[in-house]
Amino acid sequence: MELTHMSLTDDLITPSSAIPGPATAYQSDIARYWDHEARPVNLRLGDVDGLYHHHYGIGEIDLAAIGGPADSERERKVIAELHRLEPAQADVLLDHLGDIPSTGTLVDAGCGRGGSMVMAHRRFGCRVEGMTLSTQQADFGNKRAAELGIADFVRSRVANMLNVPVGTGTVAGSWNNESSMYVDLHDLFAEHSRVLSVGGRYVTVTGCWNPRYGRPSKWVSRINAHFECNIHSRREYLRAMADNRLVPNAVIDLTPDTLPYWELRNTTSLVTGIEEAFIKSHKDGSFQYVLIAADRI
Ligand code: SAH
Repeated sequence: MELTHMSLTDDLITPSSAIPGPATAYQSDIARYWDHEARPVNLRLGDVDGLYHHHYGIGEIDLAAIGGPADSERERKVIAELHRLEPAQADVLLDHLGDIPSTGTLVDAGCGRGGSMVMAHRRFGCRVEGMTLSTQQADFGNKRAAELGIADFVRSRVANMLNVPVGTGTVAGSWNNESSMYVDLHDLFAEHSRVLSVGGRYVTVTGCWNPRYGRPSKWVSRINAHFECNIHSRREYLRAMADNRLVPNAVIDLTPDTLPYWELRNTTSLVTGIEEAFIKSHKDGSFQYVLIAADRI
């Protein structure tokens, strides 16, 4: 099949008129939240290179790159450095999708402004279908894809990831990048399992509460309130995957890798007020930042 001659409206995908958006009052609230979101921490970081992410960064800080406290360019340099750590996170997620053929389709469930989708297309050359509850985000992502000349490959739609507008068994890989805390995990993984082909790969990068700590800590509760989400435990992830033919082949604790991002972010004018909760909960062991990759069997 010659990919370049296919359009994104092919029969692989149901017509946009059939796509359900927010299905519940809660999902309408989340759609509103993201429709009105314009935090400088996200937009100014994206402005650095045109890839807009709504996830956190991982990796060591390059101290030489950020300059000293007296450096007049320090703020700009710190923002650039924080932004460098965001695609580093997405790269680790994409690494775990394995080999995706350029003729394949990927699904980004909860795609935000679409930064990871652009990266996935650049890496694999394939189609990437994104869904978000927010019209603003979908429009933003589609505009960026058009500006980059890749609108035939990268598409964002207002759609519910519990009802993915993609045919059964048609997807080579799918992921949630910091978007699984908005939904019931059994419902979510049943839907990924439906769209993935057998042998396909699912990856999530997410914050989860640590069963070893006991119950969600006060910091986890604060993060839930801040983002209007419901953080699940690591145990729930593994159980819901096992119940839905998704068999983990990697569970990686990224908590130590994301702490430098939070500590640096906490020193900038971009603070949103939630930084302390992330730093404290990552340090007291109650909240982990994990990557889980699973095979669809
Ligand atoms: N994955 C993106 C965005 C993360 S922000 C990134 O890494 O940059 C969380 C996203 O989840 C938002 O885009 C929000 O619209 C989306 N989301 C939350 N619940 C959803 C649902 N039920 N269906 C589709 N998207 C959802």
